[in-house]
Amino acid sequence: QAKRLGKNRYYFFDEVLHRRIMRKLTLEMKLEKAIVEDQFTLVYQPIVRLASDTPVGVEALVRWDHPTMGDVSPTEFIPVAEETGQIHKIGEWVLRKACLEIKQLHEAGYHDLTVAVNVSPKQLERRFVKTVENVLEETGLPPQYLELEIIESLMQNIDTSKMILQSLHDLGIGIVIDDFGTGYSSLYLLKELPIDKLKIDKHFIKGVEDKTSLAIVKTMVDIGANLHLKVVAEGIEAEWQRNILHRLYCDYGQGYYYSEPVSLKDLKKYIRS
Ligand code: C2E
Ligand code: MG
Ligand code: MG
Ligand code: MG
Repeated sequence: QAKRLGKNRYYFFDEVLHRRIMRKLTLEMKLEKAIVEDQFTLVYQPIVRLASDTPVGVEALVRWDHPTMGDVSPTEFIPVAEETGQIHKIGEWVLRKACLEIKQLHEAGYHDLTVAVNVSPKQLERRFVKTVENVLEETGLPPQYLELEIIESLMQNIDTSKMILQSLHDLGIGIVIDDFGTGYSSLYLLKELPIDKLKIDKHFIKGVEDKTSLAIVKTMVDIGANLHLKVVAEGIEAEWQRNILHRLYCDYGQGYYYSEPVSLKDLKKYIRS
């Protein structure tokens, strides 16, 4: 009996593993066509100054609508693209599109909004600096309106990442640590990298009424203040969360309470209201 169960279990894991590998291969193949066939779009989520509840910028988030598979989440396909190296092309597409659309927004009278673009640590290679420079030149977006959000996982070579982030920072671009608090080397990175902003991970905001979470969030906001960094809280879903963060002197907030990530058209509507 036990033996059979054991066998079944192996069979089960084999099956799961097999399905996972097939799905990965499928995504890899379909990602190849995604850019040329125009399957990606960007949505934008407002980032709001907590003291006034007014938008100061947006975060660009990629969406993939495949003709037969439907919507595939970035949490699923970005890791695949990172593994295959396709992230370089996708990342460049996202960057160019985001800068272009924000530049258009500025020209349409929505001035002074910054755009934050997520960058995979895998993209932090020498040629990336040139790519960013080219995109800014092509689109005409002044560098101070661009922010790059990075997470510390996968950052294999801190020295290289540091050099590249420093070059980008020197161009006048803002550097944001995304999902702050979830990586195991965040504090070390704060010391090593040229950082302008911390974005507190949504998991801490979710339970911020709880004593422990509150203490952790307060400490993260204080770290930001002591290091002269701006602090953003992501994942604000309710007014009470916004109020707590405001009371802690957190600078900015982002989350469903303000707005979901929306199309450029709906973003304009949101800002007008
Ligand atoms: P992230 O950069 O931390 O983005 C925040 C995620 O939280 C987004 O999920 C957003 O839709 C979601 N979110 C926003 N407000 C709330 C809220 O109030 N509550 C909750 N529960 N969630 C909220 P999304 O768009 O599915 O993206 C997931 C992750 O995929 C991103 O996490 C980022 O790491 C990655 N990603 C998205 N777009 C890109 C991209 O263009 N390039 C790269 N390299 N990664 C991307
Ligand atoms: Mg982000
Ligand atoms: Mg985040
Ligand atoms: Mg995240």
